[in-house]
Amino acid sequence: MSRGQGSTVAGLLQEVRARFAEADLDDPATEARILVGGLLHLSSTELVTCSSDAVQPAVVEQARTAIGRRLNHEPVHRILGEREFYGLPLRLSPATLEPRPDTEILVDTILPHVRRLESEVGNVHILDIGTGTGAICLALLHECPQATGVGSDISSEALETARGNAERNGLAARFTTVHGSWFEAIHERFHVIVSNPPYIASSVISTLAPEVKDFDPPAALDGGLDGLDAYRAIAKDAARFLHPNGMLGVEIGYDQRETVTSVFEGAGFLLLEAVRDYGQNDRVLVF
Ligand code: GLN
Repeated sequence: MSRGQGSTVAGLLQEVRARFAEADLDDPATEARILVGGLLHLSSTELVTCSSDAVQPAVVEQARTAIGRRLNHEPVHRILGEREFYGLPLRLSPATLEPRPDTEILVDTILPHVRRLESEVGNVHILDIGTGTGAICLALLHECPQATGVGSDISSEALETARGNAERNGLAARFTTVHGSWFEAIHERFHVIVSNPPYIASSVISTLAPEVKDFDPPAALDGGLDGLDAYRAIAKDAARFLHPNGMLGVEIGYDQRETVTSVFEGAGFLLLEAVRDYGQNDRVLVF
């Protein structure tokens, strides 16, 4: 591309960053790079090396529309319709939680267990309950080429998104989806069960940032009166769907280590590992 009379990559970045800064976003420069990079399909390095390239007027228009949406609190990856998780590009839909970097810790934590099981049993079979975009299961399958996985979800729209993400990342042959609530539609055993279930107490939802409460699906956030409904539902039946040497890993809220541990211990599980996130909050438990 050549230097044009209209907008350049650098000019557009500057405009978006300025509008985001005026609106008091926490990190206007990073969000501007994500948005403009996403619209132009350029990496952050390419945004620099192509900074004097011309930008088509239609893209400038798209960026201005996107700015309006962001100022209305829509998260930048929702506007783009996709984000990366564990190195995999994933589509989002209104029926799916936006995968968070913190959830990559669940993948990091479970991965060595999957590898160890792989050396014992060969084909490790993984269940992701409430799979949403498929993020957790697809990341594990991508890292473990012999593993197979099932994503279950109560939302058929989420399952469609998850299947699309499996196809996009070349994992469709090893990933299937099952439609149902918790274990309702599951009729086989797994070596590993993972889940990032809804864990926020119902009364707290209205206090969350608009980026979360207005754009993530309520069904992916709302954990009932005390936030623990999902863990109780999973703990009650999980043993029936695990092989004897199997394990279960869940994401938890920052203050739920004790309560979730007692829910699972009450169902006969043994806590193997508790892991904190980048903010030093308890985030992942393995049983
Ligand atoms: N980590 C999410 C948030 O608070 C909550 C996800 C969940 O309930 N599983 O932004």
